[in-house]
Amino acid sequence: MSSPTITNSSFSNTFADENYVHPVLIVGAGPAGSLLAFCLARLGVQPLIVDSRNAVDHEWGRGDALLCRTVEMFKTLGLADTIAANGVGMWKRAFWNTSVDPPVCTTIADQFPADLDTDSPYAVNTRQGLVERIILEGAEKISGVQVLRPWSVTDTEMVDDPNADAVIVTLKSQYGETRKVKARRVVGCDGGRSTVRRSLKKYDVQLEGESHDSIWSAIDVVGFETDFPDVNMLAIIASKHGSIRFIPREDINGQNCIRIYCELNSEEKSSLEDVTAKIQRVLHPFKFTWEAVNWFTVYTVAQRIASAFDVNQRIFLAGDAAHIHSPKAGLGMNTSFLDAHNLALKIALVENGVAKPSVLSTYALERRGVADQLMKMDGELIRVYAAHGKSSDPADQQKLIAFQRANAPFQAGTGITYAPNVLVDDTPALTPTPMLALVGGQGLCAGRRILPATVRRYSDGIIVKMLDDAIPFDGRFTIFLCLGDVIQLGAVEKLEALREAMFRANGLHDKAGKIIRFVGVTTASHLSIALSSLFHQRLRLLPGGDAAESRILFNSSKVYTDDVPCLSPYLSHACPRSLPSESTPAPTDILSTKAAAGILVHPLHQKWDIDPKEGGIVVVRPDGHVGVLRRGLDVQMAWSAVEKYFDGFLKGRD
Ligand SMILES: Cc1cc2nc3c(=O)[nH]c(=O)nc-3n(C[C@H](O)[C@H](O)[C@H](O)COP(=O)(O)OP(=O)(O)OC[C@H]3O[C@@H](n4cnc5c(N)ncnc54)[C@H](O)[C@@H]3O)c2cc1C
Repeated sequence: MSSPTITNSSFSNTFADENYVHPVLIVGAGPAGSLLAFCLARLGVQPLIVDSRNAVDHEWGRGDALLCRTVEMFKTLGLADTIAANGVGMWKRAFWNTSVDPPVCTTIADQFPADLDTDSPYAVNTRQGLVERIILEGAEKISGVQVLRPWSVTDTEMVDDPNADAVIVTLKSQYGETRKVKARRVVGCDGGRSTVRRSLKKYDVQLEGESHDSIWSAIDVVGFETDFPDVNMLAIIASKHGSIRFIPREDINGQNCIRIYCELNSEEKSSLEDVTAKIQRVLHPFKFTWEAVNWFTVYTVAQRIASAFDVNQRIFLAGDAAHIHSPKAGLGMNTSFLDAHNLALKIALVENGVAKPSVLSTYALERRGVADQLMKMDGELIRVYAAHGKSSDPADQQKLIAFQRANAPFQAGTGITYAPNVLVDDTPALTPTPMLALVGGQGLCAGRRILPATVRRYSDGIIVKMLDDAIPFDGRFTIFLCLGDVIQLGAVEKLEALREAMFRANGLHDKAGKIIRFVGVTTASHLSIALSSLFHQRLRLLPGGDAAESRILFNSSKVYTDDVPCLSPYLSHACPRSLPSESTPAPTDILSTKAAAGILVHPLHQKWDIDPKEGGIVVVRPDGHVGVLRRGLDVQMAWSAVEKYFDGFLKGRD
């Protein structure tokens, strides 16, 4: 394939030679498009990204709360610290009733319940435009990717020739110039009114769904003053005049800022003055004034979903282009980011020549499932909010609280579970052990995200968070060998047998090369001399280099000891332990006895529900979701399942 040819004309300077086939053309640089560009750049694929608007148009308003799974994802991308430094954490929520005299705060809850088991049990609030900018600056630093603006896509067309490797996209500049560009894959990240989606009507892609009669206004005010106490948390305020929501926000130009959502009924007027008057009525007797309105919008809630998320795995839809719903659960921007993250890794696997094109079909399978669930939850939430907004009855408030609690795992993104497919092992979920009943939580599940755990890096003894330290987003699958108590009798022999299996001729190592990393975790103490001699003398682990090339199980910098006991769910990020129920079997060993007392001795093994006496293998995909889960280090069973998994989608392993 030829590389881009730059000519002297300023028009041509913007694009490559017209016969150049771009690997990926991204249409739109909102949350979905910007993150897709970043992730692809990170994974070695250079995208072309265009947007019909100037960057300045993105500065204010729209989404403003990054939820748990999105924050976890940004950590693996190395962007979370910059975003957090420009935002505020939202850790709590308060429910108020201002219809009674004096007004009362009826419930205070954590923003997310602790049993989600995340290192980020909060939201990071900041304006969407700033997050987009941080992501795009990151993409530019990685490989010089820049958004071409303002260029609009007006049509996409697949070439009829089945052997053709390109989609032809028509672009139009703000001055009316048109240009055709070729790309192997096109991703419509162009929002709710997506032109790409409309261009797919010829391939029978429709937008399905309905509009609701619910009307909402959103307003960002700066320089506010109030005697209402809970402006630093999510505050949901009900009154006989309706309901409003406060979302704490980052300071803007040295002034405090807050987002206010206010539901309007169809008879109410929706000018800024009318909405302001309603906010004052709901808040009364509290006072609330501000210096300036930074952004204001009124919208009717719609719920729509594209009938297909891709056409022939050549043209894809992501974010609002694929699904539109209310912003009540704060999931538009978050879902758009997670769509892009999911799609990027699959496009990169194929573009980098590692995986069969069939992995691309899993994007629609996985993200359509999420979108369907989102529509269902959002529809119910609209109804629950509507009832809450029309009454100050405590029962309606309790319904809202119960609804939010029940849907917290999905809303936070931590509960998203992909159904079996070529990237998610299809063996039935493992039966939880009695240990897990004492520990709490659900253990690991194929298709769901890996659970965080605090461990100790064996090489230097430093205590680290496993997910931050071991699995950065670099396109590689991570095979966790959970070794359990590796110095117990017979364990070494099992490991040696595992190594034999791993390095046999034509084995996974020979084929998979750089797309897999191995991480070892043992419950043995990091101070154990027996462990030291096992690693250095018998297994001959090396400190650096590629484990596969060195033909070792894993290099010694990728070994962790699971010997950092959890004394508190917040320090350890373990799940809170519920008291054992009467049906829970009485603890019989030391781990169970301590778990029953609220102490996890080997948190990773215990939370992942892997018996330290047996060990297990967990394959984690580049996006942090579990691909394969096997208890026991029995080579025949465990390793062959891993090989079968990779055989399903890696090239050259048929
Ligand atoms: C009031 C409000 C509050 C919200 N609050 C939240 C929240 O708290 N949390 C949350 O997660 N979400 C929230 N959302 C939703 C969130 O803003 C959207 O879901 C999100 O922006 C969707 O991202 P996207 O990348 O899919 O599309 P968009 O952000 O719409 O980006 C699409 C991009 O494509 C460009 N484009 C459009 N057409 C073309 C074309 N033909 N050619 C080239 N470029 C094109 C546009 O200029 C734009 O930059 C809120 C939305 C609103 C309106």
